[in-house]
Amino acid sequence: MNPECKDFSKFRAAMVELQLKRRGVKSAVVLAAMGKVRREAFVPRAFRDVAYDDRPLDIGLGQTISQPLVVAMMAEALEVKDGDKILEVGTGSGYAAAVLGEIGGEVFSIERHRALAEKARAALKAEGCDNVHVVVGDGSLGLAAEAPFDAILVTAGGPNVPESLKQQLKIGGRLVIPVGGTRSFQDLLKITRNSETEFTEENLGGVRFVPLVGEEGWKDDSGNF
Ligand code: SAM
Repeated sequence: MNPECKDFSKFRAAMVELQLKRRGVKSAVVLAAMGKVRREAFVPRAFRDVAYDDRPLDIGLGQTISQPLVVAMMAEALEVKDGDKILEVGTGSGYAAAVLGEIGGEVFSIERHRALAEKARAALKAEGCDNVHVVVGDGSLGLAAEAPFDAILVTAGGPNVPESLKQQLKIGGRLVIPVGGTRSFQDLLKITRNSETEFTEENLGGVRFVPLVGEEGWKDDSGNF
């Protein structure tokens, strides 16, 4: 069968039930968004049949679309509400941005690789995600022109929490970011801005992401400063 015509809805429903609900994802809005966004539309054509596998998939240029459970856990930790203005750093395929766009008000997603940004933009447009805007640039510096944000999600691992991202949070805003001393292993941190100068930090556990490469990240893909 032409994979373009295949109906993936039963795979998507099974993913929500078995990979997300059974493993502790509780947020009704996150489960509804993950049950709605067509993951198969964001993966390379050759991987459409395995779009709902319980793992990350290659999207080219050494980058990946994250495992569904990781996308759901991060979205849940962000506590996104209807109307929220959201920044995502690391557009990749555009999938997580589409999920956030289903829950929040407006999403700005920034990607350093122009070729990935262009593909993601096309997929988001084809899926009708009109409230998601893809920008090419260094997301370790955030997106000052659109700040402040209610929620910031970083889907690549940096050596530290970028100060620019903290400063682009609204008071009460949440930042979820993988941070680690090596390029391949990180702790997923949730930073909440309590006041102009006060932030609280929570460690949500170990994760593995590709490196955040930029001014306030690693200096190159090998994970060196
Ligand atoms: N959220 C993506 C999705 O749903 O497909 C997965 C993102 S992938 C794990 C991480 C992405 O972060 C890669 O596409 C990579 O090019 C991008 N990236 C790394 N450093 C970046 C930076 N400083 N600014 C913007 N994007 C960056």
